[in-house]
Amino acid sequence: MAATRNVLICLILFAISFLTYKVWNVENTPPAIPYSSFLSNLAKNEVKEVHIKDGVVSGIDAFQKEFSTYAPDVANLIPKLYANNVTIITEQKKTSLFPQFLVSTLPLILMLGLWIFLNNKKQNGDKKSEFSKSKSSLDPTKRVMFKDVAGIPEAKEELIEIVQFLKSPNEYTKLGGRIPKGVLLQGPPGTGKTLLAKAIAGEAEVPFFSISGSDFVEMFVGVGASRVRKLFAQAKKDAPCIIFIDEIDAVGRKRGAGADSAGGQDEREQTLNALLVEMDGFQTGETVIMVAATNRPDILDPALLRPGRFDRQITILPPDVKGRQRILEIYTDKVTMTKDIELAQIANSTPGFTGAELANLINEAALLAARKHKDAIDLSDLEDAKDKILMGTERKGMVISDKERRFTAYHEAGHAIIALTLSESDPVNKITIVPRGRAMGMTQQTAIDDRHSYSKEYLSNRITILLGGRTAEELVFNQFTTGASNDLQMATDIATKMIGEWGMSDSLGPRAYITSDSSFLGGGGTQRIYGAETARAIDMEINQLIENCYQEAMIILEGKRHMLDRMAEILLEEETIDAAQISIIANSSSLAAKDGNIEEILNR
Ligand code: ADP
Ligand code: ZN
Repeated sequence: MAATRNVLICLILFAISFLTYKVWNVENTPPAIPYSSFLSNLAKNEVKEVHIKDGVVSGIDAFQKEFSTYAPDVANLIPKLYANNVTIITEQKKTSLFPQFLVSTLPLILMLGLWIFLNNKKQNGDKKSEFSKSKSSLDPTKRVMFKDVAGIPEAKEELIEIVQFLKSPNEYTKLGGRIPKGVLLQGPPGTGKTLLAKAIAGEAEVPFFSISGSDFVEMFVGVGASRVRKLFAQAKKDAPCIIFIDEIDAVGRKRGAGADSAGGQDEREQTLNALLVEMDGFQTGETVIMVAATNRPDILDPALLRPGRFDRQITILPPDVKGRQRILEIYTDKVTMTKDIELAQIANSTPGFTGAELANLINEAALLAARKHKDAIDLSDLEDAKDKILMGTERKGMVISDKERRFTAYHEAGHAIIALTLSESDPVNKITIVPRGRAMGMTQQTAIDDRHSYSKEYLSNRITILLGGRTAEELVFNQFTTGASNDLQMATDIATKMIGEWGMSDSLGPRAYITSDSSFLGGGGTQRIYGAETARAIDMEINQLIENCYQEAMIILEGKRHMLDRMAEILLEEETIDAAQISIIANSSSLAAKDGNIEEILNR
């Protein structure tokens, strides 16, 4: 806003000065005549009176007509005029100061305007990334409480102590106990770390300062450090209070390590140092508690985790089935749903969902229901919302050729049939050939319960299922599309981890050759510790594993060719089939395989 205003001011100033200059220069000059005419008039004694100014000669002739002309040499003209008895009125050379002043200062004015503009912009930027202080933790109607955070009971239990400490610090200090300074919440995004930090402030009824680690990292060295000092100064004034630093890994990376550019690193290290200094500088009387959140605890500088700093570390993982139900209860409390919805069942069918995703699920369902002008959210809205979150928005308008649809139908049917056949795998609960997000179709499997570890059999079956799509295309059309690229990537990834990381190869033995240093998510770097010889052996093992899975997929699909055809056919008709329909197709097709006549059985 301020920026546009400044630009406007500059433009207006410019316009005004230009106009003034113009107006000043336009004088009421009478019609100009050639200098020669003027001289001849003068000779004929027809000039009565002249004004001379800046070499411009204007005046009245004998016929009372006004004229003007420009005299190249006024000095020589004057004696002639005098000789001819012309009244000569001279005027002091009046340099119109104002326009000149404007012309000479205009660039300055413009530059000044620009400077104000840039300055304003910078200040705005500063303001935005400055820490936000929220007193909503003091407002009973708005504050977040522990009851608003569900599914992470262990974390809550650990934090209750902090709340009590914030409420009555003296009870703790009088026995000489050291007060905790920092709590590090570590876990994947959306698991409620920020919410939990706010809940601490809410429960303790203290102000809540929050800033994101990435706000500290600026282009200019020293800005981040000064921001840290400001933040702490303000917090100390408002103690007791909570300082929450989100994404602390942005500043708290191991010092001296990392491959980023030297400039950025300098700034980050300075900021981190300032943070450490400030944390150590707390006086015992000051009840300021730092809460930091990260999803990459492995890359944090060990100095941050030392006693007296973030010495309490709490890991927050996505909720389990019970936790998901609790979270769903919180969010469905605020919406209207039909009576038949069982939250336990929804919790069951959403393994791996974080709190944020569950909140989003309910919200999406409410929006979908509203769009259809329903009075309450029903099960189909929840299902659609889940599909949207898991697989992206349906792309109904996308034009797909018949050939493409056939490929996709067989591809998905291929995945599904292998998943149905292999017992050590997750059940298939939906197959669709409606394109969503970047995928042309989707076979959705839902885990029966939350899995925390996987057997070798489950993993190799997973690879076989992933390869099933492409295998089906190859079997039926003798060629394949690019639709399987994502499948292949995932299959290769699993195979690589099985052999290199989880020691699941018979010939290489139980050894981890590759260690990924990310703890919750992919994206961390991987470290490989082995020689060239072993590298070849690992590669060969991975290839062998994938090859075996591929062969298995081919054998299964060849054996169940009619089921494959039948399922693809139904998919082409229905576009989406659910668990019940899938089991009917599977059962009828396997009967048909024995009898050899599908149609007859389906018509029975
Ligand atoms: P994080 O900081 O871990 O990335 P947030 O705390 O920002 O996650 O969570 C985002 C939103 O998701 C929260 O505002 C809240 O609405 C919802 N949410 C996440 N976890 C939970 C939970 N355990 N209980 C209730 N709501 C949650
Ligand atoms: Zn696929």
